[in-house]
Amino acid sequence: MKALNTSRSEALFERAKKVTPGGVHSPVRAFRGVGGTPRFVRQARGSRITDVDGNTYLDFCMSWGPLIFGHQDPDVAEAVRGALGRGWSYGAAEETSLELAEFITSHVPVAQKVRFVNSGTEAVMAALRVARGATGRSKILKFDGCYHGHVDSMLVRAGSGLAEMASPDSAGVSASVAGDTVVVPLDDLDAVRAAFEKHGRDIAAIIVEPVPANNGLLLQREAFLADLIAIAHKHGALMIFDEVITGFRVAFGGMAARTGLKPDLVTYGKIIGGGFPVGAYAGRAELMDLVAPAGPFYQAGTLSANPVSMAAGLAMLKKLHSTDPYDALERRTASLSERLEKASRGRLRFQNYASMFWGIAGRIDTADGFVRRPDRIPAAQKEEYAKLFHFLLAEGYYFAPSGFEVSFLATAHSDADLDGLVHKVGEYFNPR
Ligand code: PMP
Repeated sequence: MKALNTSRSEALFERAKKVTPGGVHSPVRAFRGVGGTPRFVRQARGSRITDVDGNTYLDFCMSWGPLIFGHQDPDVAEAVRGALGRGWSYGAAEETSLELAEFITSHVPVAQKVRFVNSGTEAVMAALRVARGATGRSKILKFDGCYHGHVDSMLVRAGSGLAEMASPDSAGVSASVAGDTVVVPLDDLDAVRAAFEKHGRDIAAIIVEPVPANNGLLLQREAFLADLIAIAHKHGALMIFDEVITGFRVAFGGMAARTGLKPDLVTYGKIIGGGFPVGAYAGRAELMDLVAPAGPFYQAGTLSANPVSMAAGLAMLKKLHSTDPYDALERRTASLSERLEKASRGRLRFQNYASMFWGIAGRIDTADGFVRRPDRIPAAQKEEYAKLFHFLLAEGYYFAPSGFEVSFLATAHSDADLDGLVHKVGEYFNPR
């Protein structure tokens, strides 16, 4: 295997560990899932990132999803420069957030009103508060392996960085808070029905990632999502689609738009800020009007809807709407997944959805051949992924540093980029 010079990254990581827990500001960045030294990125453009030692990588992590056009998209950059020239935080009403809110609500039927916050975590936290307030109930039903940010009550069997930890639950969450969370397996309606039999009167909402993408890409059946909504409503509970990843990625408007399903509340992040910090929650007007100052549920933010993020998000969504890259990205992702599977001579299986893909190592032991729950991921995944990750990294390919995270295709990835990847994966599995 090739060895790159990573001495600067190594030195920076040593310094970082002295002043920051684990040397990073978000756990998976530390490479603990694959071992080795995290690369310190100096700059990025298009489909590529360059580290502080001057190594350039073709990037399939893409900041974990926001950069659907790749790094430094010129339209987003221009909007940001324009916004910066006017000032970057007023703590007062301003017009760009209004334009973005109008753009979202006019194109996404379930989002009649929207409130901007600073992260996906905040969006979920607020949506849960609205659900609890609207129903007068305390419990939330979530699924094993779905990640909804680091809200206390959602850090139970949560995926994402926790998929790599000894326990699927975070320390520091009180038993009383965790006790308000009912956890059931994905792809199991009987378990959902049983949970409602037991706790139905106390469940304020079901929350789900409609395409769970934080513990591998755990494809769900569309009928499962439709039935969840029906069950929630039958019991007087609300349905929340956490579209922080899927929003504006799987289709303009996300899974709610793609499927025509009607959750009561949706959460967004990532793409709607064009890669700048943002989150949003949205839903039926009468629910959203429960939020302060219109209603009694308090939610606020000093930097919320800051005009730089808003301008970036607006440029991003307008470009997504006008260029409509979705079908092409989806076709290319499906074809890439198929070619990678072939290149691996069947040693990897790929699950893909829209422009997201995930490779699975090891024998899949399910009736329909799909992995739809975390406990069906083959035991070999962690170790096999780590080996392939390091081979590809040394060859100039940057994937998420965990076998339980998904990869993202951007419009910036060229056909030649993808051919190169297929070729390298072929070399890995069939060394000469
Ligand atoms: N929900 C989902 C589905 C997510 O994927 C994430 C982050 N990956 C979050 C919530 C939390 O978002 P943030 O990291 O912006 O707080």
